[in-house]
Amino acid sequence: MEIYKGTAAFPGIAIGKILLYQRSEYQIRRYLTGNVKKELEDFAAARIQVQKQLQALYQRNKKEQEAHAGIFLEQEKLLQSGSFQRAVESAISSEKVNAAYAVMTTKDEISNTFRNLEEPVIRRRIQNIREISDRLIEALGGISPRIDLGEKPVILVAESLAPTEMMEMGKEMLLAVVTHQGSTVSHSTIVAKTMGIPSLTDVEIHEEWDGQDAIMDGYTGTLYLHPDEELQKEYEMRQKSDIQEHEALLKLKDEQDCTKDGKKIGLYANTASMDDLNSVFFYGASGIGLLRSEFQYLGRENYPRESELFLAYKKIAETMGNRPVVIRTADLGADKQADYLDIPDETNPIMGNRGIRLCLDRKYMFKAQLRAIYRASAFGNLEMMYPMITSEEELDSIEELISEVKAGLKEKNIPFRNIRTGIMIETPAAVMISRELAKRVDFLSLGTNDLTQYTLAMDRQNPLLQKKYNDHHPAVLRMVQMVVEAGHQENCKVCICGELAADTALTETFLRMGVDSLSVVPACILPVRKAIRETNLKDFD
Ligand code: PEP
Ligand code: MG
Repeated sequence: MEIYKGTAAFPGIAIGKILLYQRSEYQIRRYLTGNVKKELEDFAAARIQVQKQLQALYQRNKKEQEAHAGIFLEQEKLLQSGSFQRAVESAISSEKVNAAYAVMTTKDEISNTFRNLEEPVIRRRIQNIREISDRLIEALGGISPRIDLGEKPVILVAESLAPTEMMEMGKEMLLAVVTHQGSTVSHSTIVAKTMGIPSLTDVEIHEEWDGQDAIMDGYTGTLYLHPDEELQKEYEMRQKSDIQEHEALLKLKDEQDCTKDGKKIGLYANTASMDDLNSVFFYGASGIGLLRSEFQYLGRENYPRESELFLAYKKIAETMGNRPVVIRTADLGADKQADYLDIPDETNPIMGNRGIRLCLDRKYMFKAQLRAIYRASAFGNLEMMYPMITSEEELDSIEELISEVKAGLKEKNIPFRNIRTGIMIETPAAVMISRELAKRVDFLSLGTNDLTQYTLAMDRQNPLLQKKYNDHHPAVLRMVQMVVEAGHQENCKVCICGELAADTALTETFLRMGVDSLSVVPACILPVRKAIRETNLKDFD
């Protein structure tokens, strides 16, 4: 048995096989073709191209590395073998898909079928298939990422994961996620948490782990490889007691979010898409306190149109009914990138053109979102807030755009509501001017993830800083207190929507500070509800 220590990012226990995810250099998109013949011809041309590459590689390497160069001959033979070729051709013809996608699915099918076989000959053959497929796909020029987790739930292990990659995975097939890069508050971890998947970061990854048995303990931050029988049994028991604990928590599903002394606290959910709405209802959240709307802009090839955004917001508004839904306007940039956004390389993207700055630079994109939100406001209880605010001037610009949007809607007789607006307080600058900001909106929402990174001047994603990254730092907590006081002086409600809101060790502290509401990933609603209900604010009176 081998034991690896990392940083626990989301609690839970997973027992299963590891699937090692290695990102390809390219991205592949699936599309249906009306011209199967052309795709077959493209595939044939790609095969010839790759065959030439492999021969050249063999020639180039054979003198110095005869032993290793043989691999290229082996791959060439495989490329010419009828079975792989026929499998791809049959995928193209029967599913009428593009050649690059057919190559990828064939590769995945073969790898998954033989994933658990240990024989070195088979493992080598699979590796060869992966490599020639990669070359073929490159020759065919595919785009857009996709991860296939196979048929059985797995512990996904990866060097790093982009938020979009996390989102592409079906959570039914994910027992847990283990990464080397990333942190407890990186966006891919937040996506995993939103999906309720136990997560572990800061673990050095080894390729040989693929297909091996493992246990992931998301409480202690430990990964056990080849667990012995005794440990396996112990963890099976712990999984059972986890389930019992969860069942006990489920009894709180329909309970009020009130402290023992009767103070009502708003408890909301953080979501990234429509897929999360079921769990919002399931855990009995009072609404959505943070809808990370930027995820609708990721993993695609062009800006979403206003009509697409409108339909999505309308559906959320209708589904949530009277419950409030706070749409955070697109917080793109930094680690939330898409090629079409064409954001120039920045030396320090975290401090770069992101969030509201990017939106105010791209008014066409921003107005489309504002219009979509206002149009959808007629169908439910929508609210809106802005990320990464640092100045009142930014608010001036936003208000100007909102006036234009409203005027345009009125002119066309399109119904909308005057929705409540809020500001995310996630920069020290916003904290310092929170009283002025509070005068201009209905609520403030503390984004403690960014607020911590900007206050401590520590990149929230940097694994080297994990142990130094102290989100309980007195500077952060004092800022929360300052914002609550500033907000209340201006009759403005104050919420916390960063990950700290789910930290039950701080629930009582926040409630004593006067925080009005907390917004957390759906899976954390019940533990936080329990902590709220166990707090008695009169205790020290
Ligand atoms: C935050 O910064 O705390 C926040 C809620 O926004 P995000 O994590 O999406 O940056
Ligand atoms: Mg933020």
